[in-house]
Amino acid sequence: MVQVAGLLDGKFAIVTGAASARGIGLATARLFAEHGATLALLDLDRGAVEAAAAGLGSGHLGLVCDVRDAEACRRTMGGLEARWGRIDVLVNNAGITQPLRLCEIRRADYDAVLDVNLRGTLHMSQAVVPGMRRRRAGAIVNISSVSAQRGGGVFGGPHYAAAKAGILGLTKAMARELAPDGIRVNAVCPGFIDTDITAGKLTPEMLGRILEGIPLGRAGRAREVAGCCLFLASELAAYVTGAELDANGGLLIH
Ligand code: NAP
Repeated sequence: MVQVAGLLDGKFAIVTGAASARGIGLATARLFAEHGATLALLDLDRGAVEAAAAGLGSGHLGLVCDVRDAEACRRTMGGLEARWGRIDVLVNNAGITQPLRLCEIRRADYDAVLDVNLRGTLHMSQAVVPGMRRRRAGAIVNISSVSAQRGGGVFGGPHYAAAKAGILGLTKAMARELAPDGIRVNAVCPGFIDTDITAGKLTPEMLGRILEGIPLGRAGRAREVAGCCLFLASELAAYVTGAELDANGGLLIH
């Protein structure tokens, strides 16, 4: 019987992009720790990621790892497997966005958004899968976005929608390929969540327009997305793979 508390007791989990104080990554790491997991938080800023990990309690690690760098992902994974013996859960959360319109997207913008969101998800998954395969167990949760499903129109531009749609395709293909190895792969599609990803670029007009379209009438909270990640990472979701789990307040109802 699955317990409601301690859903990740004894598990070792990695969350990328987990240093942002109000972000989905740190909220997910915190909820996983509350459910008994030992966490490795990965992010770009050493001071921030170490402080975030320390804030979870003892035994958790905060490591610098740029998910755009495949070698850094492999190195980080190798170090964690040597230390812990295994990784049970990977949450590919690191992401950036830009509120650009189609014809404003320059090559550097496209590369930046695709590299962190889509390539980063591939790199970390490639680093974690060999160990999961050897143990014939593991859960990977990829953070996509409602932008992938509804063609943007929230904050990020078309290149962000494309990156997040790419993550959905990658998630489903990984789920199909890795299921025989006992590895489940799922995606969470957050709607408009109150974090700092908009980096001060969200105008009152944009905010009003977005809120008007949300049946629940408010932005989501990072912890509400974390709950979806917890479900998908845990044994509660033992028969769930290749799924997209929406956390959007009704912004998109299929
Ligand atoms: P956030 O607060 O900005 O957190 C994202 C974190 O990822 C930041 O700490 C960021 O570091 C880090 N990061 C950026 N590039 C990285 C890299 N190359 N390697 C490792 N870490 C990197 O954003 P959030 O809102 O929590 O978003 C988390 C995820 O949810 C993202 O994938 C985002 O696209 C997705 N999402 C968010 C929303 C929303 O409304 N908030 C909606 C749908 C989907 P820096 O701060 O140093 O850049």
